[in-house]
Amino acid sequence: MMSSLNEASAQSEISFKVSFSEPQAHYADVEMKVSGNRKEFLDVKMPVWAPGSYLVREFSKNVEGFSAKSGDNASLPAEKINKNTWRIVTGKKDQVVINYKVYAFEVSVRTSFIDESHAFLSPTGIFMYVDGLIRQPAIVSIVPHKNWKKISTGLEPVKGKLNTYLASDFDVLYDSPIEVGNQDIFEFEAAGVKHEVAMYGGGNYNKTRLQADMARIVEEETAIFKENPNKHYVFIVHNYQTGGGGLEHLNSTVLGASRLSYDTDKGYKGFLGLVAHEYFHLWNVKRLRPQALGPFDYSNENYTRDLWVAEGFTAYYDNLMLRRSSFYSPEKYLEVLCDDISIVQNQPGSRIQPVSESSFDAWIKYYRPNENSKNSVISYYNKGALLGAILDLEILNATKGAKGLDDVMKAMYDEYYKKQKRGYTSEEFKAMAEKISGLSLDNFYRDYVNGTAPLNYNVHLGHAGLNLINENESKNNPSAGIVAAVKDGKLLISTVYRGGAGWNSGLNVNDEIIAVDGYRVSSVAEYDKVISLKKTGDKITVLVSRDGIIKSIELALVADSTGKFRIEADKNATAEQILIRKKWLNI
Ligand SMILES: [Zn+2]
Repeated sequence: MMSSLNEASAQSEISFKVSFSEPQAHYADVEMKVSGNRKEFLDVKMPVWAPGSYLVREFSKNVEGFSAKSGDNASLPAEKINKNTWRIVTGKKDQVVINYKVYAFEVSVRTSFIDESHAFLSPTGIFMYVDGLIRQPAIVSIVPHKNWKKISTGLEPVKGKLNTYLASDFDVLYDSPIEVGNQDIFEFEAAGVKHEVAMYGGGNYNKTRLQADMARIVEEETAIFKENPNKHYVFIVHNYQTGGGGLEHLNSTVLGASRLSYDTDKGYKGFLGLVAHEYFHLWNVKRLRPQALGPFDYSNENYTRDLWVAEGFTAYYDNLMLRRSSFYSPEKYLEVLCDDISIVQNQPGSRIQPVSESSFDAWIKYYRPNENSKNSVISYYNKGALLGAILDLEILNATKGAKGLDDVMKAMYDEYYKKQKRGYTSEEFKAMAEKISGLSLDNFYRDYVNGTAPLNYNVHLGHAGLNLINENESKNNPSAGIVAAVKDGKLLISTVYRGGAGWNSGLNVNDEIIAVDGYRVSSVAEYDKVISLKKTGDKITVLVSRDGIIKSIELALVADSTGKFRIEADKNATAEQILIRKKWLNI
């Protein structure tokens, strides 16, 4: 995937030793050795972000006790020259040994965490690189704490060396998280690949069932791309009281799960959906990728307008894979699709932010939400998933069921990952989808990708003889256009929807609602009750406390525009529409 030019001295050898002298205090001790140095000084850098999670996280904030010495143990001067770079004056010493500690106490799939029970090493926050030597291989040896017995990672073990691994370059190292502890490990074979599942944190999962069901997902996804590029794949699963989310890597993934939810249908399918999502990424984003997403700049934001394809289409496929492998019935799949439709339709930000902009600004908007995000932002996951469905339906329709989005993904993978060995541009993705479908996608891009035109669901679903119904369409329920919740015993406004009654009359987020139309309200239920006694158009007075000052705000209730959606089969669908429905939903 990555270019492999060796711009720096080919003799350099970089190795790491990670040990844990104080796991209970959440520290990793890192020793980094650079051999074959010929330079007067070395700039050593800690990445600021973890690929796949588009936010600058400033991992160097957790580094302390940085020191450098030569191979013969003479201390070398080192000073920080910016937030994530240490400059070491080497005096051209052949070997430079660097020591530092990393504090690791943030629970997430993209940050490291260490305690007495285990160490999860998220590599971009643990391993530094030498500026200019990022294409060099790295050897990593792990010294587990004395009570820990197992290591799980996608890195290649070095034969004959205990707990030692090889990364062919730093992109591979940064794409290979490491779990050290006493995790429960089981394996399964699928698509000719050995898969390891490393469960940390316990849980009521059934190994036999997971082995069979995860294998079905692996086979189903491999069938799209017709090849599985890995020899070995690792699922690192962190089970918490309440957990979720995942992060994709080259030949591994880290998943968060709720430890006691495996025995419920919702919890189990949710976990399988997460497996399907992160596994799909091993093609879409880790190999088939937008141009900006690799080789990476680890010190800065990496901008792309195509996260709606990289993430959104992956989100489209995760549920679709559960349908194709029969974990969801066709009806259930359409119900799940309606969840995305509800989010996009009911979020005013979908009328403000095009999904290409949502991708580009992920760093400052999607990953840094505030109280106004619902009004100004749309998620490239939810809208991207819908655009995946729409494009799939359009291609199926244009080719009378002969081709679909699968064919675009496979052709893109073959052309840009395998043949050209580079990322694609937005124009190249569009051109491939046009080539396969025979359609012009000018309007799709103008209206849906780079614009905020309403998605014309019934035209696209119509190709499959399906209709979207908004059950709230004819209802005329009164609404103040706000969301409130009880916090510290106070009923506080948490959202004011753009264009709603509250927005127009000046209700603010954080206003404490004291009374509505003369009635004291102190819970959401009481608030809803008072509003439900009114009619659309009625004027009401809301008494609020804003930063300790009492205000009386008058507003006219408007009809609640929140949609409630379901998809229904058209009883008069033609044979052609039914054929497309069958192809799409694998009936
Ligand atoms: Zn994803």
